[in-house]
Amino acid sequence: MNERRVTGVVVDAGHGGSDPGAVSNGLQEKDFTLQAAEYMYQRLQELGIPAVIIRDSDESLSREERLRRANEAFGGSSNAILISNHINAGGGEGAEVIYALRNSSTLARNILESIGQEGQIMRKYYQRRLPEDPSKDYYYIIRETNPMQSLLVEYGFIDNANDRVKLQNDLLNYVEAVVRAIANYAGVTYVPPEGSNYYVVQKGDSLWSIANRYGVSVAALKAANNLTSDVLQIGQTLIIPSTSNDNTTTTTYTVQSGDTLWSIASRFNISVNQLKNANNLTSDTLSVGQRLIIPGNASSDNNDNNNNPVTPIIYTVQSGDSLWSIANRYNTTVDAIKQANNLTSNLLSVGQQLTIPTSGSSDNNESQTTYTVKSGDSLWSIARNFNITVDQLKAANNLSSNLLQVGQVLIIPTGGSGDFNTTTMYTVQSGDSLWQIANRYNTTVDAIKRLNGLTTNLLQIGQQLIIPTT
Ligand SMILES: [Zn+2]
Repeated sequence: MNERRVTGVVVDAGHGGSDPGAVSNGLQEKDFTLQAAEYMYQRLQELGIPAVIIRDSDESLSREERLRRANEAFGGSSNAILISNHINAGGGEGAEVIYALRNSSTLARNILESIGQEGQIMRKYYQRRLPEDPSKDYYYIIRETNPMQSLLVEYGFIDNANDRVKLQNDLLNYVEAVVRAIANYAGVTYVPPEGSNYYVVQKGDSLWSIANRYGVSVAALKAANNLTSDVLQIGQTLIIPSTSNDNTTTTTYTVQSGDTLWSIASRFNISVNQLKNANNLTSDTLSVGQRLIIPGNASSDNNDNNNNPVTPIIYTVQSGDSLWSIANRYNTTVDAIKQANNLTSNLLSVGQQLTIPTSGSSDNNESQTTYTVKSGDSLWSIARNFNITVDQLKAANNLSSNLLQVGQVLIIPTGGSGDFNTTTMYTVQSGDSLWQIANRYNTTVDAIKRLNGLTTNLLQIGQQLIIPTT
């Protein structure tokens, strides 16, 4: 990992507003690029890499305005990187990265290989020259942003059926791959997003211990990471190959303020012992920010540690039911129902009989929270705001793609945010402090910070806060 000085990253969402970019089968490039850019922007900041986003809404930008924003972002530093996010068209399949004539191929190659690790076809990384003046770059966003290190990433082809499926399901994985490549390039420790299939090597780890923890073989782990030796380095990021057997997939969870082993185990419908075993914990003490592995097939043995034997409920699927609505009604989880019924998909048929695992305390059927999608929102940003995962959000709304539409109403599954079920929005006024707001709404500063992903106590006038209410 060669450390290079990177002052920051300019994140460009190609096209926008009246310019949809490539269009095919009802899909528009500008929507994918916005989603990619927003995710990239947030993730870079999470990793501590300064980032500026060129547009964070469906905005029409002239070439001049786009360039002005790009070039002002980091004062025209050659240590700044610009990533222009695009979706290709015109017949082809897979990802491409185009880099500037003024730069070396290193970052372009790293980015493409990183996207390739996510399962996308790697077409090529290359420089493209202006036909009328081959001494110049073809794309203005590269040519006119000298001296930055500017790259244009094409994640796939919108007019290719295979790529369309990948773009709708895996785009953010590809974007995460770009973030990973940039972090490695900049010498910044890469920390994967919560719930991902990555593992950062810690002191004392071996290939065997990691393979064991995730229920995969050493050979599979080496193959997934193109490792030729068994030597690991602390801080190295490993891809954890997914196993064909669903029972061994794992999720990770980052400990929040107020969590206990018991509350986390309950949330994931597993026992405290399973949680401790999966994480080699010898004590019950947790620290905020600690990352825990949630063993996947756990809910089936949940009852072993339950003193009250429970009788399963048989439920007959009605028209309009979803796994989520049923799980919610019975205060259980989609996963628990799926496991109890050996379901491999979320599809139900009317009249189907389901065994509902119950846990005894299933009588609170409280109000559900909904959220109306605003311009600039992404599944990821919404999930983050409500302290749930993108998967939970998608499951609750039966979403098969990551694309959202402004005005769309989403069900926010409760339980993710832990100790509150309903929320209200508050706009910060002059003179407000977190403490005053928390007091006014009978909640705590920590709860507000957690729900809004705040890392400081500073507020800005006009800032919108999600307030937990009871
Ligand atoms: Zn484009």
